Amino acid sequence: MDSEKVIRRDNDYVLHTYNRNPIVLEKGAGLYAQSPEGKSYLDFTSGIGVNSLGFCDLHWAEAVSRQAHKLQHTSNLYYTAPCGKLAKRLCRLTGMDKVFFANSGAEANEGAIKAARKYSFDHYGAGRDEIITLVNSFHGRTIATLTATGQGVFHNYFGPFNEGFVYTAVGDIDGLTEMVDRRTCAVMLELVQGEGGVTALDPEYVRAVRKLCDEKDLVLIVDEVQTGVGRTGTFLCCEQYGLKADIVTLAKGLGGGLPIGAVLMNHKVAGGMGPGTHGSTFGGNPVVCAGALAVLDRIDQSFMHNVCARADQLREGLAKLPLIQQISGIGLMVGIQFEEGIAAADVLAACREKGLLVLTAKTRLRLLPPLTLTAHDVDAALEILGEVLSEMAQKQPAE
Ligand SMILES: *Cc1c(COP(=O)(O)O)cnc(C)c1O
Repeated sequence: MDSEKVIRRDNDYVLHTYNRNPIVLEKGAGLYAQSPEGKSYLDFTSGIGVNSLGFCDLHWAEAVSRQAHKLQHTSNLYYTAPCGKLAKRLCRLTGMDKVFFANSGAEANEGAIKAARKYSFDHYGAGRDEIITLVNSFHGRTIATLTATGQGVFHNYFGPFNEGFVYTAVGDIDGLTEMVDRRTCAVMLELVQGEGGVTALDPEYVRAVRKLCDEKDLVLIVDEVQTGVGRTGTFLCCEQYGLKADIVTLAKGLGGGLPIGAVLMNHKVAGGMGPGTHGSTFGGNPVVCAGALAVLDRIDQSFMHNVCARADQLREGLAKLPLIQQISGIGLMVGIQFEEGIAAADVLAACREKGLLVLTAKTRLRLLPPLTLTAHDVDAALEILGEVLSEMAQKQPAE
């Protein structure tokens, strides 16, 4: 079926909650995807930070299909080996103690919110349930995680929203300290705000937040749904901040393309989450866990070295291009702020025409390439982006 037909059918029958790019992707290998007509695209989106190993990595695809042929699902009423194996690996990699598996980032954050409130209830009783999140954060699309998301634009139409969430400005430790009272139960944050514009938190601020949480016995939840699983150059972004969270959530990059969410907890928080407190029909599914294990199999020292080297190469190359005002983020989570008058959406469209797929976040262009990219892939992306920006610079009115 050709692209035009696929697009028309989709527009007729799929709820239009996304303004999709007007292209169809049919198959992919590594960093490249192809349309039904054979046009090739270099992917610097990895399906919004999901395809850590690129398209259809052979080892990953084999692990997933082997498990699908063996046993695809049992529910959580029975033990299956991949689930426990993945949990053990995640605990070894992160220093956390227990894992709950869900199916998405929002669901992982729901689990984190529940675990934090349960800890508070068990130790302090009812009424200590408020969670402080950051302005410009993004935590998901369910009602509770939308409420946790500190962006006014998300708090429309779907009310009533949940009680028990308040927002503090990024970097304002005095404001946060003042906000904490007898109702406060937890602080939840992203170390690099992704959807909010790819902005990294100041390490000094993060240290102060941890200290405050220790003093007031607040649960510190770090949402690593986008930053986790090697994206920023370490397995968790927490490592670069020297941060020990009480709860870490993972999702996007963990399954290598399959839907998974994980709530990682320390003993302190995990203690309250006994039988019946939480659940998921699909969570911990053996096929999805096999996919995640195949991703973790690949993330060794040399893999992480490549992530860091390619991030440096990409950032150095971007710094030489015209019309760029600021480059933000950490590792392979890259935000690009353009000079005034240049819209990120226009750059995205021009890149797509030339066969490069990129993302936006707020006013910025955003790059989230697969972690397996090569030096050659970085050069190819820089060349296209360079062409697009040079052409735009020529069209700019002279000062
Ligand atoms: C994408 C994202 C989520 C939501 O994940 P879904 O899988 O879409 O539910 C939550 N938190 C952060 C930081 C994200 O980037």
